[in-house]
Amino acid sequence: MSKVLIIGAGGVGNVVAQKCAMLPEVFGDITLASRTVSKCEAIAADVKQRTGREIATAAVDADKVSETAELIRATGAELVINVALPYQDLSIMDACLEAGADYLDTANYEPKDVAKFEYSWQWAYQERFREAGRSALLGSGFDPGVTNVFTAWALKHHFDEIHTLDIIDVNGGDHGHAFATNFNPEINIREVTAECRHWEDGGFVETAPMSEHRSFTCPEEVGTYEIYRMYHEELESLTKHLPTIRRAQFWMSFSPNYLKHLEVLQNVGMTRIDEVEYQGQKIIPLQFLKAVLPNPGDLGERTKGRTCIGNVITGVKDGKPKAVYVYNICDHEKCFEEVGSQAISYTTGVPAMIGAKQMLEGAWRKDGVWNMEQHDPDPFMADLNEHGLPWSCIELTPEQAAAFQVA
Ligand code: NDP
Repeated sequence: MSKVLIIGAGGVGNVVAQKCAMLPEVFGDITLASRTVSKCEAIAADVKQRTGREIATAAVDADKVSETAELIRATGAELVINVALPYQDLSIMDACLEAGADYLDTANYEPKDVAKFEYSWQWAYQERFREAGRSALLGSGFDPGVTNVFTAWALKHHFDEIHTLDIIDVNGGDHGHAFATNFNPEINIREVTAECRHWEDGGFVETAPMSEHRSFTCPEEVGTYEIYRMYHEELESLTKHLPTIRRAQFWMSFSPNYLKHLEVLQNVGMTRIDEVEYQGQKIIPLQFLKAVLPNPGDLGERTKGRTCIGNVITGVKDGKPKAVYVYNICDHEKCFEEVGSQAISYTTGVPAMIGAKQMLEGAWRKDGVWNMEQHDPDPFMADLNEHGLPWSCIELTPEQAAAFQVA
């Protein structure tokens, strides 16, 4: 029976724990650990109520390699699912190597003091994982994660070559707060205020944050939303692993209200990540802001509406141009009913569980460090349909696909 250790007891940690507990034949012994053990205990009690299964809990500071390695040994975990914060990625990878466990995460490493994220730090572990006979899966959330798998699946089944990729993340949900972020506010705000980068003819092009936008109508009457181009980490791995891609962009929907609040917060300095002196104490404004904003984990109860995340992909098949849109639509209220979390945590936690399942079952277990698109997409796509994130694929006309062309 397999033993897993989940680190992080936020919105995503809750979904991973619930979904793993629903599959006892794959996930034998489950331990949920985080800095604050009471959060793990609350989730464990809810898991027991929903699934009837007992999961163990533990306190761990995952910034500390030896403490984390000790916990891995004590639990006998063969796989660690890291759904803490991107800051912990490297220390948890080190702990996995030290204690002898496989590794999975949903977001790439980011240093605390620079708002910068890239894969180079984690790709540098390739040889060490390979030599240790250990496997690491990077970015097994929705975006990154499912969006990478959608791309690999489209290449396998619909294209000889992919030329353009537009990933579109629409959250049509409404939580009723004046301002709140759907996942960890510190990570979310660092991401959306960063310079935009997109891939164009062999290199990344930098533009001002939020400077390019479009109106996008989602299928299945989810609605029409304004989507803004921004940088997202899967662009880095996908353009590396699929070198025929000429242009790759990432778009996310933001309401005018969200953007208005964000602009004010930026203008008054509340999104700064450097230390400021306040009444004899050093504080980081963005961390203080996180403390006063609604907890994303508590949004589930009041969020209504649906998310629609998918890829518009163009390329050639048998010498002819072709365009497809592969997407998933997820309902906030249904997610809350099933696992007690809103759709953003759900769409991240379910792929983390599926990635872990693929690794434990062997289909995706290869020594070394891997991004999602480097594995066979078929078993993962089948599991998405099976475990709560059904997807659709439609063919687009050349005119529809051209909507993302930027002059
Ligand atoms: P939360 O802030 O809700 O939860 C993070 C959890 O990590 C908390 O329980 C926190 O513990 C714990 N944690 C933080 N630091 C440490 C540490 N040093 N040691 C142990 N535990 C720690 O975040 P979310 O659940 O919203 O997000 C989790 C991850 O998912 C993030 O990395 C985020 O970037 C990623 N994500 C990925 C997405 C994707 O599609 N790929 C989409 C959305 C999120 P405590 O509360 O005790 O401090």
